[in-house]
Amino acid sequence: MNGLKELLSKHKNIIITTHVNPDGDAIGSSLALKNFLDKLGHEINVIVPNDYPEFLKWMKNSNSIINFSSSKDLSKKLIADADIIFCLDFNNLSRINDLGDLISNSSSKKILIDHHLDPEDFYDLKIHDVKASATAELIYDLLSELDSSLIDKDISDCIYTGILTDTGSFKFSSTSSKVHRIVADLIDRGVDISSISNKIYDTNSIDKLKLIGYSLSQKLELTCNGNVAYIVLSRQDLLNHNFKKGDTEGLVNFALSISNVNMATLIIETKERIKFSFRSIGTFSVNKFARNHFNGGGHKNASGGSLENKLSVALDKFLESISKYSKDLNY
Ligand code: 5GP
Ligand code: MN
Repeated sequence: MNGLKELLSKHKNIIITTHVNPDGDAIGSSLALKNFLDKLGHEINVIVPNDYPEFLKWMKNSNSIINFSSSKDLSKKLIADADIIFCLDFNNLSRINDLGDLISNSSSKKILIDHHLDPEDFYDLKIHDVKASATAELIYDLLSELDSSLIDKDISDCIYTGILTDTGSFKFSSTSSKVHRIVADLIDRGVDISSISNKIYDTNSIDKLKLIGYSLSQKLELTCNGNVAYIVLSRQDLLNHNFKKGDTEGLVNFALSISNVNMATLIIETKERIKFSFRSIGTFSVNKFARNHFNGGGHKNASGGSLENKLSVALDKFLESISKYSKDLNY
């Protein structure tokens, strides 16, 4: 922390980056930090590996976010000129695709702020706590310590969005009394919780709802004696429903909500690879499962991974891998 205060005491060129397929915590944390550091007079650019859902494109300065996949030259130049790179809401450079190599090779100071399990060692400074409900909670703590008087309504909106989305609307066990105290303070700073809830959860397209309906009525399956539920969506399924980024967000939680289901998986065929979303309730660690079988990781009860196989091969691999844990999943 002292190291960070010292680093920020003079004008710096700063990059803030976050994980691929950025979610509410990734974007909320990045923009909260950007909007705060702007006030200290630094030069700040937020670079994300790829595009993110429309329902997050209202936070202050979201229009200034640089998408690496469509602005590679600009991103490379900014990274080459950076004094400090903040890496938010991920802990492994492989999580940010080609951007990872650029950052790894950069001579800037790298600062990790994250709450995922098992961080890779690539940073100069870290603020890391797996008990934090969201990276946005760590950002709140950091900004409060740097200068709480600078946390205005716009910054509070960003932090609130990160916490709201990463706690599943305050439902996950990570939702401590501290989280509620932070939110109380954010409301005092002007956050309108009903307006944010509306922007995030009540801006569905009819295509998205029809994709959810189709997934639940045609694609939801059980295995492991009813303790595991899964949904497989092919590229054609997505194209048939005019898929847009974010349209499958939350879908895996419907599968997890079935009585006796302790583990749920969403398998999606993207243009490049097969993407897995794993969720669990209770003791079964989907972080370990994702690490051991699907090149992934995340949290104990929410993880992801991917395979570069055909969809049918990836599905077989999932069914074979999960069947080994059938007994462990019966609780
Ligand atoms: P989601 O299923 O929503 O994409 O991701 C769930 C959690 O797992 C998030 O915290 C996300 O950061 C993490 N995660 C998702 N995909 C991967 C992956 O491929 N590798 C790692 N290490 N973490 C992932
Ligand atoms: Mn997060």
